Amino acid sequence: MANKIIIPSEFKLGGSRIIIEFDNEYCAEHRALGLADFTEKVITLCTVNKNKRLKISEINKTYYHELAHMLLDSMGKDRLKWDEIFVEKLGMALYEYERSKKI
Ligand SMILES: [Zn+2]
Repeated sequence: MANKIIIPSEFKLGGSRIIIEFDNEYCAEHRALGLADFTEKVITLCTVNKNKRLKISEINKTYYHELAHMLLDSMGKDRLKWDEIFVEKLGMALYEYERSKKI
């Protein structure tokens, strides 16, 4: 069975605290399922999109996508952090790792 993913409320990258918030209105305003704010160091996620409840798997995949943005930002990869195709692939790789790892 695949591992259950637990989205944290915060973590650190390069010594900086990154906060994870759920805000459906903010996501709707930006027409996004999630956002990574590099300045405020906040990942915003939502639970609904266009009045439809998102599946847990969609929320988790979005979290890893936004985490990938933050990882690249913390590494100073200023070109890659805006490369949505690269970010999506890295996010999906992290998601697969978390779902499949065995201890
Ligand atoms: Zn993105």
